[in-house]
Amino acid sequence: MNKNVFDLIDSLCTERSLTLSEYQSLIDGRTPALAEYAAERAVRARKEIYGNQVFIRGLIEISNVCKNDCLYCGIRRSNRRCDRYRLTAEDILGCCAEGYRLGFRTFVLQGGEDGYFNDDFLCELLRAIKGSYPDCAVTLSLGERTRESYEKLRAAGADRYLLRHETADKAHYEALHPSEMSFDERMRCLYDLKDLGYQVGCGFMVGSPRQTSAHLAKDLKFIEQFSPHMCGIGPFIPQSDTPFGKENAGTLELTCYLLSLLRLIKPNLLLPSTTALGTIHPFGREMGIQAGANVVMPNLSPGNVRKKYALYNNKLSDGSESAQCKAELASRMASIGYEVVTDRGDMKR
Ligand code: SAH
Repeated sequence: MNKNVFDLIDSLCTERSLTLSEYQSLIDGRTPALAEYAAERAVRARKEIYGNQVFIRGLIEISNVCKNDCLYCGIRRSNRRCDRYRLTAEDILGCCAEGYRLGFRTFVLQGGEDGYFNDDFLCELLRAIKGSYPDCAVTLSLGERTRESYEKLRAAGADRYLLRHETADKAHYEALHPSEMSFDERMRCLYDLKDLGYQVGCGFMVGSPRQTSAHLAKDLKFIEQFSPHMCGIGPFIPQSDTPFGKENAGTLELTCYLLSLLRLIKPNLLLPSTTALGTIHPFGREMGIQAGANVVMPNLSPGNVRKKYALYNNKLSDGSESAQCKAELASRMASIGYEVVTDRGDMKR
């Protein structure tokens, strides 16, 4: 039985599941007409749950010190040209204060895997943030840690954790990471986080070196089965000072199409239109929302460190990427019919 690709979109809308080879057919069979068909259905599915609301998160990049050496990432430990910084607890609390005033009700603390941010430091920080802003959610995105560590951070108040799986194919994972990193360990972290009661986000880069449609089909199947609360996807963008500095970037079109498919797999997914998408196209953020995303994460880091968190070339950090320009972001979203809301933005049922 050979369904055409439009029929596959229809069955995804009703079944919320396809086989690996059907996912791959959808990816290989992408045309502008098919992408439009998927986006239209994705927007409809999202509207039923989230209306025209867009959730915002204040992203605080707490450190660009990292013990890992991921081949794609600009803050990898062997990048000597990365100008390292680390925020203090006071800096971070200052960002939260400003974010709260601007209307953010979720703070995302992201950083490299920096041993300085041990459990004691983070637990005290979490208690301080949750003490001052009990109506806010705190999301951590600090990489792989032990189960015990995740457990302590959860007890100290962390609500959510973002850890992209990067690719659901083990061999491809090994092509993107140094040998001391392991796919199984990354999966262990994600399952532990879920088990500990976090709202969990996974995700992957689109168009990373050596990625095939078979890999992407596995990513979609993994997300269907793992059923995360959040999923962060964005185009891979080369960073000149990394081993992948001369590789091609992922495309806007494929990223938007995958956003639509993810929305159809899990209609209530919290799905950001990422900074990377905004970086490869001036209206990338808007196009991500129009493909089915419902979250944006403007930068709330102190101005003097923003350029230093250089995961990839030309990463946006000002204009409507900046939390201080929330009005600009709100008007850009309004121009396409969406409303930026002051809300924790939890996943709806
Ligand atoms: N240390 C944290 C944060 C990593 S940076 C963690 O492990 O979760 C956040 C995300 O940026 C990564 O998960 C990766 O998917 C993305 N990223 C890194 N380098 C990138 C690049 N060159 N292009 C696009 N995205 C990149």
